[in-house]
Amino acid sequence: MSERDFLQRIVFEDINARAVYVDLDSVVAEVLARESYPDTVAQLLAQALLVVAAMSSGIKFRGRVSLQLQGGGALKLLVADCTDGGGMRAIARLREGAIAPDDTASLWAMLGESGVLTLTLDPCDGGQRWQGIVPLEGRGLDQAIEAYFRRSEQLETRLRLAAADGRARGILIQQMPASSTVLADEDGWNRLEHLLATVAASELLETPGRDLLDRLFHAEQRRVFPARALNFYCPCSRERVMALLGNLGAAELAGLFQIQEVVEVRCQFCNQAYNFAQEDMGELIESAAPGSDSLH
Ligand SMILES: [Zn+2]
Repeated sequence: MSERDFLQRIVFEDINARAVYVDLDSVVAEVLARESYPDTVAQLLAQALLVVAAMSSGIKFRGRVSLQLQGGGALKLLVADCTDGGGMRAIARLREGAIAPDDTASLWAMLGESGVLTLTLDPCDGGQRWQGIVPLEGRGLDQAIEAYFRRSEQLETRLRLAAADGRARGILIQQMPASSTVLADEDGWNRLEHLLATVAASELLETPGRDLLDRLFHAEQRRVFPARALNFYCPCSRERVMALLGNLGAAELAGLFQIQEVVEVRCQFCNQAYNFAQEDMGELIESAAPGSDSLH
């Protein structure tokens, strides 16, 4: 497996807690290559990718974890998601004519006015979709996620996120749902918190992951799971787009082809273009899929 773009899960059984380390290079590069974003927005996108990757390590279904930020200021919408298999993508939408501030704290403060954070767990095998929506709290995405878990799942969580120059590294530590047995190591959580607090953003970005994890947790009883690869992935396809267009119905499609010879549909996540012409009409109508009202 590639040395780049992976997540590493560690479980501290005596403490009933876990850690997830995420290391992203090419996924961030792929996302940023598809659209030109102001630096601060690019950094927030990279941080959001770290968060969904870390969250994907805990899901027990086939499907996707998705994070969405909406609020005020220059940034209208930011979406990042990660599948159980490590396929990732993200986009951000700026308000027309808006100028993004050149420091992330201001970008966050503006977003936070009436801002909301939505986390969605979306199983692809027919399981129940689950969604949690909370107001944006704290001075940045790390604090907002910590507040989210405290509020919605009563799980203490600490996050360190660092992103610069197209690289992103993050560590999450989190208490696991309470077990009935008494903890073997009652002070363990405090120790993990203190260890994480010693990590500066520069160290996170510059130290190879395995060295950093050894430095932090070498004295702790722990189970280290095999690293899992992460990569850029968009599940859009010609078939899905056809089903979507087909839903417009024959009359509307005919109208569209009267206006333009070729109808182009572009995936907002990966920028892939799908083209359709008059002769595709029959196939489009056939592929109409009732109830499928979104690209993905
Ligand atoms: Zn796509």
